[in-house]
Order: sequence, then structure tokens, then C-alpha cells
Amino acid sequence: MIASILPTYSRAPLTFTSGEGSWLTEADGRRFLDLGAGIAVNALGHAHPALVAALNEQASALWHVSNLYNIPAQQKLADALVDKTFADTVFFTNSGTEACELAVKMARKYWFDKGENRTEIITFSGSFHGRSSAGIAAAGSEKMTKGFGPLLPGFTHLEFGDHDALHVAASDKVAAIMVEPVQGEGGIRPLPDACLKGLRDLCDQHGILMILDEVQCGMGRTGRLFAHEWAGVSPDIMMVAKGIGGGFPLGAVLATEDAASGMTAGTHGSTYGGNPLACAVGAKVMEIVGDDAFLADVNRKAGLLRQKLEGLVAAYPDVFEAVRGSGLMLGLKCKAANTDVVNAGFGQNVLTVPAADNVIRLLPALNIPDEDIALAVEKLAKAAEQIKGDDA
Ligand code: PLP
Repeated sequence: MIASILPTYSRAPLTFTSGEGSWLTEADGRRFLDLGAGIAVNALGHAHPALVAALNEQASALWHVSNLYNIPAQQKLADALVDKTFADTVFFTNSGTEACELAVKMARKYWFDKGENRTEIITFSGSFHGRSSAGIAAAGSEKMTKGFGPLLPGFTHLEFGDHDALHVAASDKVAAIMVEPVQGEGGIRPLPDACLKGLRDLCDQHGILMILDEVQCGMGRTGRLFAHEWAGVSPDIMMVAKGIGGGFPLGAVLATEDAASGMTAGTHGSTYGGNPLACAVGAKVMEIVGDDAFLADVNRKAGLLRQKLEGLVAAYPDVFEAVRGSGLMLGLKCKAANTDVVNAGFGQNVLTVPAADNVIRLLPALNIPDEDIALAVEKLAKAAEQIKGDDA
């Protein structure tokens, strides 16, 4: 008999009932150090007092009004995003997947309005853009698309890192290139700054719109508000979600005025997108994460964690191969099976997240205390010790 929850997830046998900072408490009372943060969602940890206060204040005033009316919290968050980024305008969604849907629509409408037949969007292997029809068609992997055809047409899939193929595919017929500055699900694979710059140049050369998917790597995760800032380039369209709501469902598409020019009244909408509760929390997250001193501290913590992880890899060469990633979006490429490492972590009360390419992801809260960073690596060392013991 089918489970009452559609069985699309393989869940660990853990049930968390409360959280505080970087810690989660299991129903049986065990406390777990959370290095997954809801897969890069709980940017400020669990139950951050300022976020709880912002949510409670909005909850006691007004939960929902439709986008037929002005929503002050939405305006506040949009203004803050426009103020701190390349963008001139923002559309709010409830998730990264919905942000992908709009990014694709926006790029195609841009060219339609110019009277040009440019619909093709270039994407890369290992990418992840969500599980909707556009999201799976964009990523294009067999794992995600098999059995779900016919797929949304108009995507050209290139091998990640194949510059020659990119130069052949990029032309004045292409509508957009969509890319994650740091691939998350794909195994924490950063696009080198030089490549992101090269991609921007290529887009400029052919008039192609650059869509960056910063759903996982954005909102302070890499130590800058958005990951592309490290390369000194800016996109035309950007997808955001996860960390922006700090745990409340919220996503956004940010765009330049030019790229957004086709999206006039009636061309797109959402019942819940930009809901007052989500935006009240999002505005508070932006206020905290968008602060330069906060981001400087993310970089300091990232340095500390990375240094300790390099030591871990050196100490357990049979279990780990390398550290990779950027800021507090780090991956441990494993020699042992990554799922064994995640499971051994459960035994040490530490939570990590598997990714493709036999990697485990470490995506802690951006404000994880230094002592928890040290403790996390001690727990991972014990997990590695156990794996070594099991193999012996
Ligand atoms: N894009 C990227 C880079 C992601 O990592 C994800 C989710 O993991 C998505 C899009 C889809 O976001 P959501 O799960 O909020 O729909």
C-alpha cells in the first residue's frame, strides 16, 4: 500500500522537533549539530530571535493579501534587494523552482518583444534548477527527466567546463545562458571567476541574456551577498530562493530593467509569491545578511572551517579526497561512499548532505559559532574513524 506521503523522498530515520541556532533536537532528545541548514535554507540557523520576532509581528497584523493590492513588506524587501544588487526590479516567488520558471519566461519574452526568434537556452551538465517541467528540461539529466516527457523544448545542454563546445553553441540565435556560479546538487562545483567573466563577455558579444541561478549559492553563502560578485560581473536575470527566507518559503527573480522589459501587467503572477509573512522574514534576513560586517564574519568563519577540513582530509586520506567550494558552501569529495559518510555522521550527531560526484555538502548556518565549527570537524573525524574501522 502506498504511504500516505507520496514516497518521492528517501528519508533518514530522524524526526526533529525543535531547533536553536546550529542545533536540532530529535524527538528522543538527542541534539544534532546541523551542517545542512535545510540544504542552505536556514541561513541564520534555527529560531533566530530577530526572525521569530519579525514573523510574529507580521502574523499578528496580517497573514495574506493578494497581489491585487500593495504589500509593504514586499516593497521593503524589493527595495533592499535593488539597493544591494545589480537588479532594477524583483518578482517574488515561493521557491527556487518557480524562480526558474519565470527566468525562462522572462528571457523568451524579451526576445519575442524584440521580434526575434531566439528561444534557445544553454545550460550545463551537473546543474540543478528545480523539479518543474522547465527545471528538469533545463538541467536535462536522464535521472531527472526519464519518463517525464515530452520535455519543454529549447534547451541546449553542454558539458560543464567544455569551453570549446560553449563557443560553438553561443550565437546570435541563443536567448540566454543559465548557470549556477557554484553548483550545489552537482557536488559543490564552483565556476572559476575567470570562467564567469568569460561567460559574461561571450553573452555580451552575442547579445545573450545571462541568467544566474543563485538559489543555493546566493544570500551570503559564499561570503559575498551573491556569489557572482567575486568575479566582478553581473547577470541580466538572477534566480534566488532558499537562504532569502531563512526557512520561510520565499524565492525571487531579480533582473535589470532591460531584461525585464517584456514582463508587463498580466504576463506573470502568483497567489502566494511575495506574501506578507514571507517578505517580513525576508526583509529581516536581508537586513542582517546584507550587512558588510556580517559578510566579513562569514568569510572569517569560512576560512576557519576550510582550514580544519583540509586537516581532516590530510588525516583521513582513505575516507576523504579533497575540500572544495566557496565560503560556507563547502564540499568534501569522498573516497568512501558519500552516503556512508553522511550515515556515520548521524552516529556522531552531525548532519551533512550528500551531493552528486560522491561529495558531502557542508552548508552550515552563516552565523555558526566558532566553537561549533571546531566541534563539527571533531564529529566528522570520529565519523571517518568509524568508517576506517568498518573497512578494516
Ligand atoms: N536551483 C538551485 C541551484 C537549487 O539548488 C535548487 C534547489 O535545491 C533549486 C533551483 C530549486 O529550488 P526549490 O527546491 O526551492 O524549488
